[in-house]
Parts: sequence; C-alpha cells; structure tokens
Amino acid sequence: MNKIAHIPTPVYKRIIIIGAGFAGLKLAKSLFNSGYQVVIIDKNNYHQFQPLFYQVATAGLEPSAISFPLRILFQKQERFHFRIAKLLEIHPEKKEITTTIGELNYDYLVIAAGGTTNFFGNINIEKHAFTMKSVSDAILIRNTILENYEKALNHTNQEKMAAYLNMVIVGGGPTGVELAGALAEMKKNILPKDYPELDFNLMKIHLFEAAGNLLSGMSEKSGARALEYLHRLDVDVKLNTQVVDASKGEVLLKDGSVHRTHTLIWAAGVKANSMKGLPGSSIGYAGRLLVDEFNKVLGTSDLFAIGDICLMQNETTPKGHAQVAQVAIQQAKNLAKNLRNEKAGQSWQKFVYKDKGSLATVGHNLAVADLPGMHFNGFVAWVLWSAVHLMSIIGVKNRFFIMWDWIWNYFSYNQTLRLLIKPKIKKEQDDLNQLDKQ
Ligand SMILES: Cc1cc2nc3c(=O)[nH]c(=O)nc-3n(C[C@H](O)[C@H](O)[C@H](O)COP(=O)(O)OP(=O)(O)OC[C@H]3O[C@@H](n4cnc5c(N)ncnc54)[C@H](O)[C@@H]3O)c2cc1C
Repeated sequence: MNKIAHIPTPVYKRIIIIGAGFAGLKLAKSLFNSGYQVVIIDKNNYHQFQPLFYQVATAGLEPSAISFPLRILFQKQERFHFRIAKLLEIHPEKKEITTTIGELNYDYLVIAAGGTTNFFGNINIEKHAFTMKSVSDAILIRNTILENYEKALNHTNQEKMAAYLNMVIVGGGPTGVELAGALAEMKKNILPKDYPELDFNLMKIHLFEAAGNLLSGMSEKSGARALEYLHRLDVDVKLNTQVVDASKGEVLLKDGSVHRTHTLIWAAGVKANSMKGLPGSSIGYAGRLLVDEFNKVLGTSDLFAIGDICLMQNETTPKGHAQVAQVAIQQAKNLAKNLRNEKAGQSWQKFVYKDKGSLATVGHNLAVADLPGMHFNGFVAWVLWSAVHLMSIIGVKNRFFIMWDWIWNYFSYNQTLRLLIKPKIKKEQDDLNQLDKQ
C-alpha cells in the first residue's frame, strides 16, 4: 500500500491547491474562514514575484525581496495545511493525488501550477540557454554574468573577450524587453566602473524577436515606443529574427549568422507544467488544461485549473486569456466565490475577465502603459509601473526594501548587489536533489 501523506483527517470538505503562485495563493487567501479544510502544496516554501525576476538577475534587487515565506500567511488559519511537495500524478477517478510526500484524497482539487519555459523541442537551445522562471534561475543569471566578466579579464584575444561580455536575449515580450533594458543600463552605468580594464565597446546586447514587433500583448504604440527606448539604450534589437540553434559560446540565427556569447537567455516561450493522469482530451495548446467558464477541467469532476496552466476558450477569448498575473488572480477570486457558493447552496458564476491594462518598463523613466482607453509612456508610465509593482508585492518589509533599493538606484545609478554567492551543497543533500529531478 502506498504511503498516505500526513495531514489531519478533515472534518470539513477538503480542497487541495497545487501551487502557491499568483493564482493558488489568491485562492487560498480568499478561502480563509470558508469552512473548508485547505491543503496547499508547492515545490517551494515561498511565493515568488515573477515580474521582478529580471531585477534580481541584473543585481538590482535581493532575491529575498521578491520571495515571501508561505507559512507566515497561514499562521492563524487552523484548517490550512501547507506542505513542501511536488505533485506527481492525479487520479481523477479516485479523487486522489500522488505527491512526493505520499497520497492524498480530495473533495476538490485546484491545479494552479503555472508554466515553464518552452524551447519548442530544441534540445541544443535548452542545454545552452538560461531561463527566467524562478528566483533560482534569476540568481543563476546574475552569477553567470558576474562570472563571465571576471573570466573576460583573463583574455587578451578580443573575440574571446567579447563572447564573455556579449548577451543574447531571445523573445521580445515583457521579460526580454525589461531584461535587455536593465542590462543596457548596467553596461552604461555600472560595469565600466567595476571593470575599468575591460573594453566595453566590445560588448553588445542583442534582443532577437521572431515577430515583427515587440510586446505583442500590448498596443502597437507601446511596442514601437519600447523599440525606440531600447535603441536609445544601444540595444541591438532585431525583429523578424529567429534563433534556431545554440552551442557552447555560440548562437545561430535562421539567416545563417552566428553570434558569440556565453550568456544566452531564452524568454521566447511558455508551456504549462505537465500534469500526469489527466485524459488527453483535457489538454490543449502548449499543454494547457482546457477549462470551462467556471475553471472546471473539461471531462473531469471536482477538478479545477486556474492561472497560467489553464486555457479557457470561448467566443470572447478564442485563444484563451493572456498568461498574466491579473488573469490568475481574478480566476482565483471567482473560483473561491463559487466554492463558497457551493457550500451555501448557491449557484456558480462564470468567469469574466476585467482587463485593467498592461505595463512594461525599459529603464530609468522609460516605460509604456496601456490602460483601458489610454496610453502613456516615458516618466508617467514609469511611475505607474513602479507604483503598481510595489503595491503588488506581498509583505510590508519586502515593499519597504524594494522601494529603498529603487530610490537608491534611481539617484546613485549604482545597485550594490553584485555579489557572487553560490550555495554550498552537502553531498547527501545533492544526492536528494538529484533524486528529486528524476
Ligand atoms: C520573468 C517573468 C516576468 C513576468 N512579468 C509579468 C508582468 O510584468 N505582469 C504580469 O501580469 N505577468 C507577468 N508574468 C506572468 C505572471 O508571472 C504569471 O502570469 C503568473 O505568475 C501566473 O500565476 P500562476 O499562479 O498561474 O503560476 P505561478 O505564479 O507560476 O505559480 C505556480 C506555482 O506552482 C508551483 N508548482 C509548479 N509545479 C508544481 C508541482 N508539480 N507541484 C507542486 N507545486 C508546483 C510553483 O512552485 C509555483 O509556486 C511574468 C512571468 C515571468 C516568468
């Protein structure tokens, strides 16, 4: 018999939430005092604020400023149980899941496990590129950039030196644009001071985008303005340009040209985290779970999916919703309301997305904002972007530290977090990590 995960037997109906990202966390918080037992399962014991990963990667923020320990949130909730674990398989017919800590049964299961990087099957790119889907990824990019500058110092051959200095970012969505802008500002304001022996004329920041415009989820005006800002910051942006292969220190474009770099960052695709055990008919484009307008996974019962992992297609959203935080948060709120309605014997309400607008920043005083019926750019959009992100961060302490870092960086142009700290892992722990990856 398989091991049963140790969670108190529920007197109340049990809701299991997989993932404590924007969607899972909002759902859990909206179920406080709802009369359900709520079990939250995540691979990590903290919530990650993904929109600011790029600032950790470029040494602008501490990783802890954008991560929030989950247990603090549930301290006063008696019927809430958090476990660090990974969902391995769902058994919808038995209303049971298998996790790394054992089996668990549920009355309602909510999958809010988000997405992962999509390399579209290109294993060479997967092997050589860096991704930005977790705080750990962002720390790895930061360490790699700093290490590469240290390595460049040991070369006199200009080509070899340039390969350590150059950066190639693939994907002109918000992640690629924001990262390119932040790296360009680092190149302009910080790196030449830290590394006066290096020739920064050799360093090129390339942003390659397969489509004909940047920020495809935003207005044409915003895309065009972002392009102008990046040119101003001396980023080499190439639209209609596809990266097709990579090897150690080299990136190959579809037109046959080769770019030398040891820093290839892939921000060009997302796919859903795969969920074993669900029928094939419940899975749609990029592995996303097909849901109806109540976020119920098609072809199942008492099983829901919210946030990036789900795909809700109807007349108003034939391609599903954008994979952004607001969609995840609003779906979570609607599902929580419906689960409460269920308990109270009331009817369920369909999910209707309210678009509050989109923002992206490129650098100091350079941002774009599309609000319903309005477009802003430059300083106004940048203030708006800063205020919205600051208000969205969980934890007063985190907000305060981020605000302080931003004010400091704004006036000094000199973020101070360029530390090469690498976690030391004991052999025994490393073996466990390897097992976890299998
Ligand atoms: C670099 C970057 C920048 C972004 N910038 C913006 C932005 O500016 N504005 C915006 O609106 N959106 C932005 N997004 C998108 C936004 O972050 C997502 O839309 C949002 O995080 C989706 O929330 P979610 O809860 O569905 O998934 P996530 O927030 O990804 O949460 C998923 C959770 O599930 C956990 N998990 C995954 N698999 C398992 C498993 N098998 N078992 C247990 N736990 C699991 C993960 O650890 C994670 O905590 C950005 C995303 C990235 C990567």
